[in-house]
Amino acid sequence: MNIHEHQAKDLLKEFGAPVSNGFVILNPEEIKEKIKFINSKKLVIKAQIHAGGRGKAGGVKLVDRSEIQSEVDKMFGKILVTHQTGPEGKQVKRIYIQEAYDIEKELYLSCLIDRESSKIVFISSTEGGVDIESVAKKTPEKILTTKIDLKKSLDKFDKEKILKIFSFSKNQRQDAENLLDALYNILIQKDASLIEINPLVLTKQKKIICLDAKMNFDENALFRRPDIFKLRDLNEEEPAEIEASKNGLAYIKLNGSIGCMVNGAGLAMATMDIIKLYGQEPANFLDVGGGATKEQVAAAFKLILSDKKVKGILINIFGGIMRCDVLANGVVEAAREININVPLVVRLAGTNFEKGKDILDQSGLKILSASDLNDAAKKIVEAIK
Ligand code: ADP
Ligand code: MG
Repeated sequence: MNIHEHQAKDLLKEFGAPVSNGFVILNPEEIKEKIKFINSKKLVIKAQIHAGGRGKAGGVKLVDRSEIQSEVDKMFGKILVTHQTGPEGKQVKRIYIQEAYDIEKELYLSCLIDRESSKIVFISSTEGGVDIESVAKKTPEKILTTKIDLKKSLDKFDKEKILKIFSFSKNQRQDAENLLDALYNILIQKDASLIEINPLVLTKQKKIICLDAKMNFDENALFRRPDIFKLRDLNEEEPAEIEASKNGLAYIKLNGSIGCMVNGAGLAMATMDIIKLYGQEPANFLDVGGGATKEQVAAAFKLILSDKKVKGILINIFGGIMRCDVLANGVVEAAREININVPLVVRLAGTNFEKGKDILDQSGLKILSASDLNDAAKKIVEAIK
């Protein structure tokens, strides 16, 4: 789960990191009351959307204090299209007002969990403010990666390694060390999986400050982090994916035309692969989990069919914990409730699969049954032609 820049900065501040001065507004009127929190003549207004690249898309603006109201009025409601939003863009529904800083140098610092090495990784670079991916490509020597074994806190050797690339003065160093502690502690104590400060700036007054902050949290840990879960902004999420999570389904919308209903993430991936092998594209990833109920199957059908690109549905179930007859009943009842107007191919294997097949065959519904995964993929691809 991602959170907004202003929320990330509040967290950083709480953990002792040096962050920019600012406040958030949810409507243009709030500016009148809140502007007193910042004294500076120059301000930066920043669209709060869950995507980077706002600067280039007009979502970050340097303005005079006198023109703040009119600039805020202009930015609210605007659709921002950045390289991370997709072509449909995102509408600005909240704005963060910041003091404008005189920047001497833009740096980069991030902290994340590296699954490959099972370590916590810090990435530091003198080339901040731009895409770190392009820095990595063009000038990899300007990026420093430091891997750290999981432990209670960073020690002074870790900090030295991470900050080596920056050549900070003594005062800056203290702030930088506090920032490293904050990143590390948020990662561990709040179950963040990625925290990126881009840019971390060195001001003309020689202070270091986090000007931007992006944070991502492990969704599987949110149950034990109610304070983080509270920061979720449903405006930023795909409506179908919100509906899915309400029903305990793992659903990710994709761009193809074959809807998939599968149990288990691995089987779902294999199903998507085989659809591609037969020349088509999956419309979604959907894992109904180990013990899908009739209600969940119905919700899954509705989700798949809410995507107008779907021309056919492939159900692929392996009955392990889930029994195929229970699932087949769920499919039949859900199919009676919802008008399924596209071809439906079902492949069942595992516990009680014969019973499940009988239920489907006797339901009177137009269901094509398949003997194995290969057969199922062939049949659905053929059926949508
Ligand atoms: P994004 O990463 O979405 O483009 P940033 O917050 O990184 O948004 O802002 C983009 C650029 O705008 C920064 O690299 C920095 O140069 C400038 N900027 C952002 N906030 C401020 C600020 N408070 N004062 C001065 N410049 C700023
Ligand atoms: Mg940025």
